[in-house]
Amino acid sequence: MKKETICVQAGYESKNGEPRVLPIYQSTTYSYDSSEELAKLFDLSKEGHMYSRISNPTVECVEKKVAALEGGVGAMMTSSGQAASLISIMNITASGENFLCFSNLYGGTTNLFAVTLKKLGIEARFIDYTMSDEEIERHIDDKTRLLFAETISNPSLEVLDIERYSSLAHRNGIPLIVDNTFATPILCRPFEFGADIVVHSTSKYMDGHAEVVGGMIVDSGRFDWKDYPCLTEPDDSYHGVVYTKQFGAAAYITKARVQLMRDLGSTPSPFSAFLLNNGLETLHLRMERHSQNALRVAEHLKNHPKVAWVSYPGLESDKYHALALKYLDNGYSSGVVSFGTVNGKKGATVFMDSLRLAKICVHVADLRTCVLHPASTTHRQLTDEQLIKAGVKPEFIRFSTGIENIDDIIADIDQALEKI
Ligand SMILES: *Cc1c(COP(=O)(O)O)cnc(C)c1O
Repeated sequence: MKKETICVQAGYESKNGEPRVLPIYQSTTYSYDSSEELAKLFDLSKEGHMYSRISNPTVECVEKKVAALEGGVGAMMTSSGQAASLISIMNITASGENFLCFSNLYGGTTNLFAVTLKKLGIEARFIDYTMSDEEIERHIDDKTRLLFAETISNPSLEVLDIERYSSLAHRNGIPLIVDNTFATPILCRPFEFGADIVVHSTSKYMDGHAEVVGGMIVDSGRFDWKDYPCLTEPDDSYHGVVYTKQFGAAAYITKARVQLMRDLGSTPSPFSAFLLNNGLETLHLRMERHSQNALRVAEHLKNHPKVAWVSYPGLESDKYHALALKYLDNGYSSGVVSFGTVNGKKGATVFMDSLRLAKICVHVADLRTCVLHPASTTHRQLTDEQLIKAGVKPEFIRFSTGIENIDDIIADIDQALEKI
């Protein structure tokens, strides 16, 4: 099936006389005819649901849809994007080990990596796109377990050179984990370029309606885990199961579920999965419209006298345009545009407060146009000088273009820019 058909059809198929629409199985538990049958589930020798902390039929259908969209061997839904990032790392690291990640990651991810994982004894080593391969490799030692990156970074909108960094990771025996939240599998399927694991905050475009927080981990099934004893040696918490032996290509994603989801319980509700599935059914249509609208917004802002600079990978003049053409379908670059107004922080604030259709929200990437001014919200404690050091210019605005009529969006932008 092509990706548009997968969005609509994959994951759930109704048989004779069954509901046409994915049912919500609102049940924590599942009944069995014999204790022996249930025992087989506990031994992992038979597949099936036993308790909804670990798996649920509604959730499973949505996991299958996302696995099919990304081209992976399996997926696991989590209660949030943060939980997906956390589990994707914890699944193959332990206290005393480290991993590489880029410094342009989403702020929540950076906090998780630099502060919380550090307390667990797992060290994040930050690198950036200006470094040569040799400089990056100087940060790798025999305790380095993975490289973590974003396809299109939030909010700086830098496009990842997936082939370059997946080869670098593989040369050093480690997997590349990609946060594909902004691109979604509609614009980019990182596995096709060598990534090994994909994570998502489904709270953004995948849900698309700003209704439910959620996350997803997808396994390509292609990484060779031979140097990862946590996958190749017996797991005592499952009577000595060896994941690579028993589950082959699905070793990583099976361990994430039966060990970490069992122990951490970052479980999504069946109703959340149902809402996410509704969003996924139109993802292909929305990503196209988001990207078309955002390009029009970016082009309009670029020529506007009240705008100091614009950053959008879909713009021909953008630093990341060549990578966008290579990695993003049609060069479509999602709905998020970053730009700066004239008159610094004051100009940005006047612009934001004058918008009518676009609302001020912490959220990003849903069907209603919304904006955020990091300098007066998420980074408001910092002085102008500190803001620049943190890479957040005082006039910087993150504009999340929705799927309304483009003329209405641009009219709103124009009347607000006039007020500066
Ligand atoms: C929002 C976001 C996250 C965190 O996801 P939540 O669902 O809010 O927990 C992770 N990565 C990226 C790129 C995001 O935009």
